[in-house]
Amino acid sequence: MKVIEKIDELRLYLEPLRCKISEKKSQKTIGFVPTMGALHKGHISLIKEAKKKSDFVVCSIFVNPLQFNNTGDFTNYPISLEKDKKMLEKAGCDLLFLPNSDTMYQNPVRTKMAFEALDNVMEGTHRQGHFSGVGIVVAKLFNLVEPDHAFFGQKDLQQFAIIQQMVNDLSFPIELHCCTIKREEDGLAMSSRNRRLDEDQRIIAPKVYESLILTKKMLKKGESVEKSQQAGISYLDKYKEFETEYLEIVDASTLQPLAPKKKLKKIDSATRIAICVATKLGDIRLIDNIIID
Ligand code: AMP
Repeated sequence: MKVIEKIDELRLYLEPLRCKISEKKSQKTIGFVPTMGALHKGHISLIKEAKKKSDFVVCSIFVNPLQFNNTGDFTNYPISLEKDKKMLEKAGCDLLFLPNSDTMYQNPVRTKMAFEALDNVMEGTHRQGHFSGVGIVVAKLFNLVEPDHAFFGQKDLQQFAIIQQMVNDLSFPIELHCCTIKREEDGLAMSSRNRRLDEDQRIIAPKVYESLILTKKMLKKGESVEKSQQAGISYLDKYKEFETEYLEIVDASTLQPLAPKKKLKKIDSATRIAICVATKLGDIRLIDNIIID
């Protein structure tokens, strides 16, 4: 696996891959997986998906300061570079782009991005400026890598919706892919932040997923959106360790909350419903979601 830290070198390396060099050597499609490192099987599943859909796979590892609204979260963000490299190599990643902050942001970034309705719910309201930072870094990485395909996880459902809107609005010629959430055996969604959980926190962390399953069951049983949501929240509230920020039942495309009195049978069957949760265990913020088709 090639490792590149500098922008010019990255561009020089990728350019010939895209061009048809001779009759024998055909143009390669580039698949891209942006990450913040501390890799786990969820990230690797994106690399594997990228390998299926493209000829050459690029992964980036960059802990993007612009998207952290909480300095503690940024400074404590786990790093395991040597292990990450081994995992990527084993998964068949072709190139790792590993810029540092000075490389990515030579000058302070003054540009902001706004995503309107998609940013006015859930993560957007609880993490001011977060999606602007995500938009900037993803747009920048798209400009540097110029991939044909880019792969993201459903784990960050709102992030995917926002990037899809940005790609459409700004006409990036990139096909986006939303990959399923990889979970531990007990249901906990894999996340780099999970490695900061202590033993007791790790034991109750799967309750986050259980709260989503319970909410879904209530909806399926015919309870209203409001009652089902309340059941999910109360389930987590039973454990004093959780400080829940939201548990929302939303339209999976628009991410807008469904009307509180609505029941599943009154919802158009074409609507995909997502149940999304964010809660804190100590200073570790966990998010998860499930989609009901
Ligand atoms: P991160 O390193 O947390 O920025 O994540 C990089 C990419 O991996 C994002 O597109 C995430 O949505 C995705 N991802 C994170 N956790 C998982 C998971 N458990 N399963 C699948 N994809 C994931």
